[in-house]
Amino acid sequence: MANYDYDLFVIGAGSGGVRAARMAAPLGVKVAVAEQSRTGGTCVNLGCVPKKLYFHAAEYAATPVYSSGFGWNWNTPDFNWTTLRENKSKLIARSNTAMEKMLAGAGAQLLHGHAELISEHTVTVDGKTYTAERILIASGSRPHIPEFPGSEFLLTSDQMFDLEQLPERILIIGGGYIACEFAGIFHNLGVKVTQIYRRELFLRGFDVEMREYLAARMRQRGIDLRFETDIRTIEKTRDGQYAATFTDGQAITVDLILAATGRRPNIEQLGLDSLGIALNAQGAIQVNDYYQTNIPSIYALGDVIDRLQLTPVALAEAMTLVKQLYRDTSAKLDYSLIPSAIFSLPTLASVGLTEEQACEKHAHVDVYTAEFRSLKHALDDSKERILMKLLVDGQSDRVIGAHMAGEGAAETIQGVAIALKAGATKTIFDQTIGIHPTSAEEFVTMRAITRSHKTA
Ligand code: NDP
Repeated sequence: MANYDYDLFVIGAGSGGVRAARMAAPLGVKVAVAEQSRTGGTCVNLGCVPKKLYFHAAEYAATPVYSSGFGWNWNTPDFNWTTLRENKSKLIARSNTAMEKMLAGAGAQLLHGHAELISEHTVTVDGKTYTAERILIASGSRPHIPEFPGSEFLLTSDQMFDLEQLPERILIIGGGYIACEFAGIFHNLGVKVTQIYRRELFLRGFDVEMREYLAARMRQRGIDLRFETDIRTIEKTRDGQYAATFTDGQAITVDLILAATGRRPNIEQLGLDSLGIALNAQGAIQVNDYYQTNIPSIYALGDVIDRLQLTPVALAEAMTLVKQLYRDTSAKLDYSLIPSAIFSLPTLASVGLTEEQACEKHAHVDVYTAEFRSLKHALDDSKERILMKLLVDGQSDRVIGAHMAGEGAAETIQGVAIALKAGATKTIFDQTIGIHPTSAEEFVTMRAITRSHKTA
């Protein structure tokens, strides 16, 4: 039997890589993890964690408005960007250290440097060679920047958290998660936000009614949302601003332009070509149900295989892989009913089918909706409201989709996702007693069908 330096060599200490290493090492597997940057990957350093901190900072901005009807007067609120940025960086530094300790505690060795595949069992890290029985590529993804005249002036989400100062006006290109989240954050922090999206309605793939509702709410808050237009050129002005022209002839001058136009797998400079590792049509590493590439000893998971670029998915893939390799060869991940949330303001969260998908898949779909003002906002002048929606298969009575836009959407949908995963019927939702008074109780008190779709 071949003698390797390691049983499992992980490339990338992001969410997926760290989880795989932490799960495998305590099983007696000799594990190394190579990381060229900070531990934690996109989620900890440039994604979920700083984004959620900034989202909360943005939410707090509304406190004086929300609480005024409840008797509060906060005099003159003042926001300090530097405080937020520096506190965020301190928290992330603590998380980096904690992750390194977790890896060491689990018995995995962390190697700092750039890893490259040399052969099916060999990797170099900054020139030093290591052998391993199995190699796992968990190198993540990075922002994609479209090309057009002036696109070199674009910033991506990688730079947004560490801006020296808060801009006065910003243009955001894109209609996905990141564009909508930054639009809400910067708007609430006092920046004049324009967001453009190339098609007729943003958040493609989500429920149309929820997308329309979110667009209306964002506009109502003051975000300048423009659909069916795209950026054509950017020029830097003499005073350091950016003049952008759009495909529909509009023009705008802002302090900063953010491209939130998707993320691409990190597949460069890994030696994939020389080993002939197959990619799929989207340019992500192609793997089978067991995260195995076309080279049997080399595996991949997370953003680099681009199934769903979500941290909890990468974590689940890592845990499934470790189970497959070392405990139960038949273990497979169930990708159905994965909930997700866009931390826009207001937040939009969903699990299961959209109304459009439900109508394609089921002959009879009952739609239940509730739109209301929560008690939390009953005494304030804000126009905060909530939209909730349940989709029910009229034949089996199973709840096949749940959607919510408004405060608490992500927290609520996380709970509802368990019910859907358990196969709950609408009858079970109806039999569940609500917690009163909450917004979430609406999901168990929707009695009247808003509309039904029936195909003959
Ligand atoms: P998304 O894929 O969500 O959205 C990309 C957007 O950019 C789409 O609206 C797309 O339009 C548009 N776009 C793509 N290329 C161009 C182009 N050349 N010109 C103009 N517009 C373009 O990507 P994000 O960057 O927002 O986020 C990346 C991924 O990260 C997400 O898909 C998600 O998986 C993950 N993420 C998850 C978060 C969460 O869970 N809360 C938060 C942030 C990110 P079109 O619809 O036409 O394709």
